[in-house]
Amino acid sequence: MATDSFPDPFAFGDEIGPSKIVYLQTPSVGLRAIVVIDNVAAGPAIGGARMAPDVSVNECFRLARAMTLKNAACGLRHGGAKSVIFADPLMPRAEKEQLIRAFANAIAPLHEYIPGPDMGTDETAMGWIHDEIGRAVGLPAEMGGIPLDFIGATGFGVAISAAVAAPFVGLSLQGARVVVQGFGAVGEHASRYLEKRGARLVGVADIAGAIVDADGLNIEALAQLKRAGKSVSEYRGGRVISNESLVAVPCDIWIPAARPDALRADNVARLDCRLVVQGANVPATREAELIMFERGVVSVPDFIANAGGVVAAAVEYAGGSIPAAFAEIEEKIGLNTRMTLERAREAGAPPVDAATKLATSRLRRMMELRRWRV
Ligand code: NAD
Repeated sequence: MATDSFPDPFAFGDEIGPSKIVYLQTPSVGLRAIVVIDNVAAGPAIGGARMAPDVSVNECFRLARAMTLKNAACGLRHGGAKSVIFADPLMPRAEKEQLIRAFANAIAPLHEYIPGPDMGTDETAMGWIHDEIGRAVGLPAEMGGIPLDFIGATGFGVAISAAVAAPFVGLSLQGARVVVQGFGAVGEHASRYLEKRGARLVGVADIAGAIVDADGLNIEALAQLKRAGKSVSEYRGGRVISNESLVAVPCDIWIPAARPDALRADNVARLDCRLVVQGANVPATREAELIMFERGVVSVPDFIANAGGVVAAAVEYAGGSIPAAFAEIEEKIGLNTRMTLERAREAGAPPVDAATKLATSRLRRMMELRRWRV
């Protein structure tokens, strides 16, 4: 099937999905995009629409699968999907609007796909998509949306997950040292919510650099740098280190909140922490998960820890409020983190395996009830 220039569309399949891989092109506006709808047994699939120049089909599929598992683990009435618009997210606004509106029209026939904000897109972009096709989540508040990144839905969930996981490694959040890779919507809010629970941010990185201070970094000062378009590495005080060294910064909780595959076989042994709480999607390779397990580092998988955004999106889609979203996130992520770590402990298995079992058994039950819309 595959040729040198076109990936084999069936290379990614298993009994769960994907149900569709759709390539979209609108040459007149330079739109090139891909949508992977992984599984819709639970209902129409929610998944981020990412704008990036460099995401492979395989990565898009892995991200879609993570959404399937995340939505199933949380008992949402939504399947999992992901889309990528191949473009530079920093392009001029007018061009970006045109491209996103073209994308909206291209996905109009894909009724089982509900896009949400992701890296390179935001609530304004979801407003444009909704304006075109009446279907998107993570809308601006003025349109009845729950502004996921503004309220820090995912970061809040990561902090809840960390709070529930901490006792499993004999840790209290009071005084816990936290390192966060990525200071965007997820990383900043996770840092803030963890600080509210007594933790101390001792290291942080963005794409341009990293900074550490064992006495604690001032999160508001970091946020100000970010708002000014600067890097966290321009922080006054602390010590600048390389991005690659962040993995080895001594801490209690290490939070990946940037790109996939941040933890790999070649760097994961450098971790000097007890707990990893995955804020980013697919931030650890399978090999890295196994090495963490062997070394006694407890790792809460992405689809358990970072479900806050999609839980809030589902609440929004059902017409719910911001307080309802926070309550659902706390309940669902707290419960799932506890169940995952308890089952992993009982089975003597890595948490990612226990969590996958938890999510897939829920998914299979839903798939049994469908005829062939899986
Ligand atoms: P964002 O674009 O707001 O922030 C990303 C941050 O990561 C930025 O600070 C960027 O500079 C930094 N970064 C990028 N590459 C880096 C690198 N190589 N080293 C260090 N830092 C790097 O994105 P976000 O919304 O915070 O999302 C971050 C991750 O979390 C992504 O994997 C995303 O898919 C995932 N996620 C986001 C949400 C959400 O609600 N926003 C929900 C679930 C999962």
